[in-house]
Order: sequence, then structure tokens, then C-alpha cells
Amino acid sequence: MLNDTIAAISTPPGEGGVGIIRISGERAFDIAERVFRPARPKDWLRDGFKLHYGHAVDGVTGEVIDEVLLAVMKAPHTYTREDVVEINCHGGAVPLRAALKSVLDAGARLAAPGEFTRRAFLNGRIDLTQAESVIDVIRSKTEASLKVALSQLGGGLSLKIKSLQDRILGMLAQLEASIDFPEDDVDEKSRQQLKETAGEIIRGLDRLIEAAGRGRIYREGIMTVITGRPNVGKSSLLNALLGRERAIVTDIPGTTRDVIEEMINIKGIPLVLADTAGLRETGDIVEKKGVEKTLQIIEGAGLILFMIDAGEGVTAEDSEILKTVDREKTLLIINKIDVGKSPELPPGEEWNIPRVEISALKGEGIEDLESKIEQMVTGGRTESPDPVIISNIRHESALVKARGNMAEFMALADEGVPPDLLSIDIRGAWEVLGEITGSTVTEDLLDRIFNDFCIGK
Ligand code: GDP
Repeated sequence: MLNDTIAAISTPPGEGGVGIIRISGERAFDIAERVFRPARPKDWLRDGFKLHYGHAVDGVTGEVIDEVLLAVMKAPHTYTREDVVEINCHGGAVPLRAALKSVLDAGARLAAPGEFTRRAFLNGRIDLTQAESVIDVIRSKTEASLKVALSQLGGGLSLKIKSLQDRILGMLAQLEASIDFPEDDVDEKSRQQLKETAGEIIRGLDRLIEAAGRGRIYREGIMTVITGRPNVGKSSLLNALLGRERAIVTDIPGTTRDVIEEMINIKGIPLVLADTAGLRETGDIVEKKGVEKTLQIIEGAGLILFMIDAGEGVTAEDSEILKTVDREKTLLIINKIDVGKSPELPPGEEWNIPRVEISALKGEGIEDLESKIEQMVTGGRTESPDPVIISNIRHESALVKARGNMAEFMALADEGVPPDLLSIDIRGAWEVLGEITGSTVTEDLLDRIFNDFCIGK
């Protein structure tokens, strides 16, 4: 399928200053000649990179469709490594569709989602992690997420994976040598050596897996819940963080019935904030539903902001709520310090959690709160995200599988298993790492990855 020429509208639907039709493939220049009339025909150049002014026309009737700029990009230094032409039309649905139709009539095929990027991969310009990072760049939620995506686009992750693969290949070579001379079995010295290398590889994998958790946070955001008794100031905090009115703030207990979700950016970390119905025993049906939903969300949350009221001190109800949360993920927020001073916390171990004092109403302590959140989420690593951070669940699960293979090898090596059996796990680890970069990838996996893309990318 790589020898046909594909085309699509590459800009988002709707009105804009410009709209771009991208064409890639062997016939891109032929097609351009049929649908484009240059203002200065003698400048028309097939080789090199040039921008031409002229008109897009209907290839059959010759009728003018739009006034355009046409960019000509000669293979192999293009996005797909093929000849690429981009027609910059005026950004409206009608001129774009008419120009695209003309391009398709002239012999191009409509591109599938992500097909331009898929070609960049199949033609060897980028590997799979880089292809996947294209979509992460597009969907970055914060500048920090963008940084992670860009580093992956630059190939940082692939380099790490390849170096691990090389070491595994080295182990395989050593094992194969013993298979060729079965009578020699793996001697004790090389067995020790192999185990040492395997140990180092496992540690390398562990570092990448550990970074994966943080990477996912930058990519997808961390689900955050604000919980606490009615009226402690949860909605007010949400508003203070959002910097705009959104949740209903009211004096009547239990009016925040629905769950409101918002994405906010705290020091580069995307927080998906859910403000929930106050947790309390209630006979009110609507509110009961809210409470059930709240408990569900708290279960799945990565960060819990548990709020109490400085004016009222710690109540029995507060202690009950504390029992429903995972304390490892909980930050205690003592609100309304403008009316009451910070209350004595009950002595027990359960109240020994990170805390911060604020006034949601006056906006006091919000900076401090943001720093505490950053500390909790990044595990105290407040430096900018790792240059090589795994942000993709597909990569993460491949790393975990590879680690499993290596651990299995370690166990078998201790049992004195023959080399040909030992090599099975090593080979497995090598292959599963190859799935990350795409060196050992199946058509099916490619379909799944690129279906996530938009058409025109
Ligand atoms: P929720 O039920 O927990 O969402 O609480 P709300 O955000 O609706 O707040 C309940 C009441 O407490 C409202 O009257 C708020 O104006 C008030 N409130 C919230 N935060 C503060 C604060 O920091 N100081 C003071 N004095 N009042 C606050």
C-alpha cells in the first residue's frame, strides 16, 4: 500500500485563516500539476523545497477553486520521506473540500487516520515511540507534558531501550555459544557473568518502570478529589484553584450534589479535579447518590485533598471521613484559617499526614498548597520531568513483561537449567522490548496505535 499516493485535510475542521491539504507519495507532484495553476509557470520546480503562489483548480473542468500557496517538498527530507505537497487554502470547509475532491479525482487516495505518520515509521524516518509521541505532542495538557512528549519525539526513550536490547543480545550470544557445544554446558564463571548482566538489565528496567508512573501523570493528569464535610469550603477551594466561578458555592449544607470535573495545571502537573457531594449520612435520595459516587471516585483517585474547618476544629464526622480515604495519597487541608486558628489534631497516628493551612475565601496559603501537591505527586522530585520518562501505558506494560522474563531467567539460572532453555526468556525480553521501538511489531499493533490519530496527521 506504500506505493499509492495519499491525501487528506490536515487542519482541524471549522473556519480558520488557512486550511492545509497534505499529499504524500510517488505521484504527489503529478497530482499537484493537475490541480494547481502557478501564477508564474516558469518557476515551477519539481526538485527542492519551494512555496508557489497560484490557484487550486478543478483538474477536470479547469475551474478555479481557491487562491492558494503550494508547498513542494522533495523526498527524502519530508515528514513521510516521500514526495510531499501541501496546498494552503483559505480555511473554510467549502474551499478545502472542493480542493481535496480535485486532488482525489486526480488520483490520490484519502488517507486513513495517522497514515502520514505511519508512513514516516514504515519508511524508517522515525521509530514507533517517536510516532506515538506525535500524538502526545498534539494532546499535551501542560508545558511539562509537552516537554516529555518532545523528548520522546527526539528519540530519547528509543536510545535507552536499544541499549538494553544490545546487552540482552550480548547475553544471547554467550548462551548460543554454549548451545553449540552442548557438552560444555554453561560453566560456572559465565553463569555468574550472565546473572550479573541480567541483574543490571533488571535494574535498568526498574528505573524506567518507576519513571513510568510519573510519566503517565504528566500525560494523562492525576485524578484528584476534594473531600470533607459539607460547608468546610470544598467548592470555594475548587474556585480558588480554577480562578473562576464554576462550582456552586452556597451556605446551605449538601447543595453540591453533582460531581464537577475540571482540569487544572499545578506547576506543570495536570490535575483532574473532582469536587464531590459532601460525605455524610443522609436520608436525601439525591444526595445519597452523590455520596455513593463520591466514595467510588475516592477509590480511584491518585490524590485526595481532605478538608476540615479551622473554625470548628476536628469533629467526629471528620474522623469518620478520614477512615474512608487512603492516607498515603491524602493531603489534609485546614481551611478557614481567617476565622479560626489551626485546631489541635487528635493524637492518633491516623492524623499524622501532610497538611497545609489555607483560606479558600481569601486565597491565602494557595501557593503553599500547590507546592505540597507537587511534592506529593512527584514524590519530592520537583525538578523538571526526567529527559527519558515513559508516558505510555503500552511501553510500561512491555517493560514489565521484559522484567518478568529477566527475573525468570535469574531463577532458572540458579537451578542449573541447560542453555537452550535459558535463552528462551532472554529472547522473550529482547522481543518484547522491540515492540516498544517497533523493531518487532505486528500489523495489528500498528493499526491499534494509528487508529488513535486524527485523519491528516
Ligand atoms: P462545601 O460545602 O464544602 O463545598 O463548602 P462551600 O465552598 O460551599 O463553602 C461553605 C461556606 O463557607 C460558604 O459560605 C463559603 O463562603 C465559606 N467559606 C469557604 N472557605 C472559607 C474560608 O476560607 N474562610 C471563611 N471565612 N469562609 C469560607
